[in-house]
Amino acid sequence: MRLVLVGPPGAGKGTQAVRLAERLGVPHISTGDLFRANLSQETPLGLEAKSYMDKGNLVPDDVTVRMVRERLADDDVTKGFIFDGFPRTVSQARSLDELLDERGEELDAVVEFQVDEDELVTRLLARGRSDDTEDVIRNRQQVYRDETFPLLDHYRAIVVSVDAQGGVEEVTDRVAAALQDR
Ligand code: ADP
Repeated sequence: MRLVLVGPPGAGKGTQAVRLAERLGVPHISTGDLFRANLSQETPLGLEAKSYMDKGNLVPDDVTVRMVRERLADDDVTKGFIFDGFPRTVSQARSLDELLDERGEELDAVVEFQVDEDELVTRLLARGRSDDTEDVIRNRQQVYRDETFPLLDHYRAIVVSVDAQGGVEEVTDRVAAALQDR
């Protein structure tokens, strides 16, 4: 199964991606995690990404797409994948469409995580990652509305929207149930 998870920062995509990957037996690919791994190893890519991530801005599309292209070359991806945090712009979505086209593959679904905005800020402040200060969180929410939300229109034919409030297990079950019809 080939899935993309879309939702604002704090919607629980990362948590659910890990659980869904296990249930579906496919790898979970988080561009945020890939950037953080590059950062902690101080690779050139990590150093380039750092200034954007610290402010809650998006890393430029060409850098992000290059990193994803490399990840898609790994063997484990032939079974499918769950993307979490990618694509995050319509331009990235077009690049992903091309990458999949070259492979003769298609996405099965794009899962939209829906959560109230107040709940999002509460969750992120509780998480306390280094880019989880209030100003940076607000900027990430704004970037989501401006850059990422339009993806739902790009993918409208395959979007599955899920209420992502409630317990972790409850939400996993809801996503799994919504995907059964696909
Ligand atoms: P969150 O969903 O809480 O914003 P992520 O771990 O997904 O956290 O992303 C953290 C940061 O990594 C983003 O604010 C951004 O700077 C960078 N990033 C992650 N994915 C992408 C992407 N697809 N395109 C550009 N930048 C990205």
